[in-house]
Formats: sequence, C-alpha cells, structure tokens
Amino acid sequence: MPTYHLAIDDTDSLRMGCTTYVGALIVERLLPEARFVDYPNLIRLNPNVPWKSRGNAAVCLRFSSARTEGEILELAASIVEENRDRLDGKNQPGIALLEGEVPPQVKEFGRRALFDVLSLEEAYRVAAQSKIGFRTIRGGRGLIGAVAAIGNTLEADHTFELIVYRKRDAWGSPRKVDAESVRSMDKETAPHTFNNIDPETNRILITPHGPDPILFGIRGESPGVVIDALGKLVFEEGEKWIIYRSNQGTDAHMINRPKISSLTPYQAAVIEGAVSKKPVTLRGGHTIVEVADGSGCIDAAAYQQSGDIERAARALLPGDIVRVYGGVRVLDEGEAGGKLTLNLERLDVLELVDSVKRNPLCPRCGVRMKAKGRNKGFECEKCGKKSESPVIENIPRQVRKGTYLPPPRSLRHLAKPPRRLGLEKLSWDGTVGRFFGSLNPQHPAEDPRL
Ligand SMILES: [Zn+2]
Repeated sequence: MPTYHLAIDDTDSLRMGCTTYVGALIVERLLPEARFVDYPNLIRLNPNVPWKSRGNAAVCLRFSSARTEGEILELAASIVEENRDRLDGKNQPGIALLEGEVPPQVKEFGRRALFDVLSLEEAYRVAAQSKIGFRTIRGGRGLIGAVAAIGNTLEADHTFELIVYRKRDAWGSPRKVDAESVRSMDKETAPHTFNNIDPETNRILITPHGPDPILFGIRGESPGVVIDALGKLVFEEGEKWIIYRSNQGTDAHMINRPKISSLTPYQAAVIEGAVSKKPVTLRGGHTIVEVADGSGCIDAAAYQQSGDIERAARALLPGDIVRVYGGVRVLDEGEAGGKLTLNLERLDVLELVDSVKRNPLCPRCGVRMKAKGRNKGFECEKCGKKSESPVIENIPRQVRKGTYLPPPRSLRHLAKPPRRLGLEKLSWDGTVGRFFGSLNPQHPAEDPRL
C-alpha cells in the first residue's frame, strides 16, 4: 500500500471552525481502512503572518492506504467543504497530498514557513516539483500551509496535544470544565504537561473561548501523560478525542538569525546585539529598546502584557548585550515612514554593563575635570589641578542576566514555556499508539480513560 501525506490549512475563521476538527473528521473517515505511520500532526507556522488571526495551524496526516490519490483528495475536499466557515470571507482552504517520502525541497519549504512569509506561487512550484496533488478553495492561500505542514516531519523536538471536541448541540454555549480538576491535574502531571493554567491570574488555559468545537486541549510531553491527564479532568460529555503530535511549545519558529539590515516584515527573527540607547517607556506601559548589531539598528518593543520582558527591558542600559526574539512589524507608514520594529516574545540578557569610566572629580572644587584629549589626562577648568586617569564607577543594576518570557497566558502556541526547559526531544521513535476515539458512553472501548 502506498504511504501518503495529506495536509490541510486555512479552513478556520475567527467566528467558527477549526482546522484540527476538520483533521479529526478526516481521520475518522480514513481510520477503518488506513494504517497511520505517525500521530496526526498539528503544525504551527509563522505566527506573524498578517492574514492569520488565529494560531496559524495546519494539519498533516501520514498513513498507508489502498485508496488512490484522487479518492483521498476527493474525500478531504468534501469534508473541508462541509465544515469550513462559508460566511467568512477570509479563509482560503488548501489541501495537499504527497505519496512516498517527503523530498528535501518540501522539508526546506516547511522549515522556512516557520519564520518567513512565503508566496502562493512558490507553493505551486514546490508542489509541482514534488508531485504534490492539491485542491484549493477560493484563493487557495491555504496551499502554502498545507505544503509546509507536509514538510515539517517533526524529527527533533515535539510535543503532544490531546483535544476533546464538544457535542454538536453544545457548540457556542459556555464550556463546562471543572476548574479545580484542571488545577489538580496540573499539579499532578507537572512538568510533563504545560500551559494548563496561568499562575499569576489562576486562569484556565486549556479551554478556548470562541464558538469552535474544541472543549479543551491538554498539551504534554507524551501520549501517555496527556491521556493520564484527561482521566483527572471533570467535564461535560464530549464527542470525540484526538492526539496530535506537534511543534507547539518547541520554539520551532525561532531558528531565523538574520542581520538587522536584512529583516523583512512579518518574519519571526532572533537578533543578537547591543542596546544602543537608553530604553524609552511610553504611556500605556510599553517599553522600546533600540538594538544594534553592526549592520543596522531596530526598535524592539516590549508590551506591558509581556510582564517580565517589559520589566527587564525597562532596566537595560546602552552597552548591554541582548538576544531579542520576536515578530517583525511595520509601523504605520504615516507615523514612522514604514519603520520596522520587533515585537518582543522573548528576551535573553547576555551581558550587563556594570561599571562606567568617568572623568575624575577635582578633589578641591568637587567638579568634573575636563579631558585634555586622547590619553592626555584630565584637568580641572576652575583651578587647573591635573589627573592622569579616569575613575571607574559601579552602576547598580535592576536587571539580571538570563531569559525573560511572557506569562503563560500571553505565550504563543509555538513558544517554549519555561516548564519544558530540559525536556526537549532529539528524535521520535516512530511508535504510534491510540490517538482517536469517541467519548460517547455507548462506545466505552474508544474512551482512553477506561
Ligand atoms: Zn579644581
């Protein structure tokens, strides 16, 4: 039987729908016959792409099947067509299907889609080169994410998410998930699950807020731990569950390390450089830090809701060495002439200026002496007293070297939460366990809790 890689993207909207749900529906239809060679993949792509208002998620299914390419594309297209948001003018679903091994040019396209803005033309070209079959609906911009999802084979670090979907008649009504059960699940499974609650506000983070079909998603390090966590939660009757293998929580988008002079809008970028001006805190609590790397300089913006990042940024001084991570934005053309800024998602403080050379004070007059020229010493302008060398003064600092991240409630799907540090994986062993079933009490054998 041939092995296929089937990917979908851009089927959702702000109002409704969810690419992971469409993925689950396709899994449900394929499963009786297909043999999956991987967990369903949930691939997050560059979160800074401007037309993406949600998490920029694509789904890829990898399986062997006796079906033909045409039959699989037809099946996927009909499920996407039934479930996409037709009233929303923005979604442009794309479906892509590759048979056989994933070629290097598709992997490269997938790698770049994590941090860059790629064109539909290039997606068409890579698809043609690689014999990827596809269907597009409306503009078909979703083909970019679909081809990129095929290319992201998650061979190194990855995480899992167990998603429970709601029964159809519950969509749009308030979710019933017992908050106390989420808090105790978090305590009992830490550090092997993440982003369950926000410690500062005690808010539950596993439930989304829109009218989409997701009841909640539990993110963790292994299929075993997310199933174990599911058994600890108390919640309304769900419809089905699925486990995705994902690049969420891995910092996969933070692999682009360009020079400042080569930055382009909407990239995700990591820049190392020196703070070149005293940071400015604007009304509203946002702080702007100018960073220079020898090729140019850029304003890095730390928003008030970024918490520790903003507090650290505010305390930086010229000469400090930092690594800044974030999305490149263009400021309003009228306001700043199309100037690029970097919205900070993470800040590493690498070196702090802890002392400063200053001209000595005159011991008689108490005023600062004037430098007489390069290496020529100092002289008091008032009384003429001379001094050979400058004095070194210590600067007390309000910030320490280290990594600063936003609170969990403001973390992006791709961002690695502190809890994952040290748990990163270097490979995947290829073992596929159970990943899909019903939560309907009439099918107890499909319930992972039983
Ligand atoms: Zn003097």
